[in-house]
Amino acid sequence: MGSLNAVVIALPTNQSKLTVWFRFCIMELFKYLDREVIQNIIFLFTKAQATSFRMGDTIHVLKRLFGEIKDQSGIEIPLSESNTFLIDNEAYRYLMTPKEMFHFDESEVKQFKDSWNKSAQACQKLVELASRGSPKSFEKTGQLEVLRSFLDNHSEELMNMESELEQTSVKMDKIRSVLSTLTAQINHLEEMKEEVITLSPEILSSPVEVCQHPECADYFLNRTGYHKFPPKPARSAYIPFQSNKNSPCKSGYNHESKYHQRTIFQCIPKFEQRLPPEILSQIHDNKRSLDLSQDRLAELEMQERNLKIQQRELLRLVAICNQQIRKHSVVHRNETFLDENDFQVIQQQAFTDGIPNEAKLRKLEALKRSYEYEKNLMKVQGRAYSHLTLNEAVSLISEFESKRQAHNFGSSWDNSRDMDSEFTNESPIQRSVINGSRAAFSTMR
Ligand SMILES: [Zn+2]
Repeated sequence: MGSLNAVVIALPTNQSKLTVWFRFCIMELFKYLDREVIQNIIFLFTKAQATSFRMGDTIHVLKRLFGEIKDQSGIEIPLSESNTFLIDNEAYRYLMTPKEMFHFDESEVKQFKDSWNKSAQACQKLVELASRGSPKSFEKTGQLEVLRSFLDNHSEELMNMESELEQTSVKMDKIRSVLSTLTAQINHLEEMKEEVITLSPEILSSPVEVCQHPECADYFLNRTGYHKFPPKPARSAYIPFQSNKNSPCKSGYNHESKYHQRTIFQCIPKFEQRLPPEILSQIHDNKRSLDLSQDRLAELEMQERNLKIQQRELLRLVAICNQQIRKHSVVHRNETFLDENDFQVIQQQAFTDGIPNEAKLRKLEALKRSYEYEKNLMKVQGRAYSHLTLNEAVSLISEFESKRQAHNFGSSWDNSRDMDSEFTNESPIQRSVINGSRAAFSTMR
């Protein structure tokens, strides 16, 4: 990047209204200029004959716009008689006109001559002024462009990261609730154990009398196996122990003798808790789902961690860019597209004879979004980077970009970012400058 003696901004003398595109282009231009270059700015007003070589309305419009810029960044753009010049090319057009076709009277020729002299004098003074001042390096302006491009290239990616993080968190919450349902189900199923009783007979040393009445028996036998009687009042020992000498009945009972029987063995009960096979298979299935869900959760947690690391790194660099842009550029943000009324005017560009051009409208909407992202990103602030110089900030950005290119990391987003093949090699900001300037040029003409 070399150095320049002067930056000459040429504008028509009579721009009485602050048109949207005029504002857009001026803001966009000053967004990229390093504030040290501002001292070398020269304004050249054209079509000066229309205002008899006096300042036209454009100067008021510019002053109002520069007031807005001062409010935003605190930078005062010099605009006084010493750096403004008035010219008109009507004399040149006169020279080029075939004299046999047009006739000019004496007063007209005098006016052309007058206009030529004034314009020539203005150009001379402009060159004098430009060569008098010390040339300003354009290095910082180039570096600011690197930072702006970084913001522009990564703003949408950061927004996508934000929504991806949100989606991941929603997915993780869902899985966590599935996990807790599964765990509760497994616990519940595991409680569904059946009590299985096995009775093993044991020969007694001498026969005893027992009572078979259900009130005295502790267990009964049917086709499905041994079962325990529900607890009864006044129950006592296991069968077949006698509770008193005279009757084999439990204490408090005295059943008829037909229930009584002599036996030489007793049954020793063994209790066992067992899960029915269908419950066991349900538990097995649930545990499988539990494992799968836990794996998926771990995967998502890892994804979230990685995304957060990438996001932190990007946000750190965004904060660094913002700090440098605030420190060095004349205009922080161009919000022309974000003003609802202005945007309606801008949208008129997409209409020809009242017929909308859908592709153009979509492009304008996309541009508006990129300015919204820019605005949001400019809010990102970091505290710890105030010691950095612009050079250091630019090297950090370049390092990051080349590291990323080497790892081709984050490529999935880059690929999906811009589906508009017509402009794939231009960033939205470059695009906006190009489109904006074209449009502004045609508007101002
Ligand atoms: Zn009994």
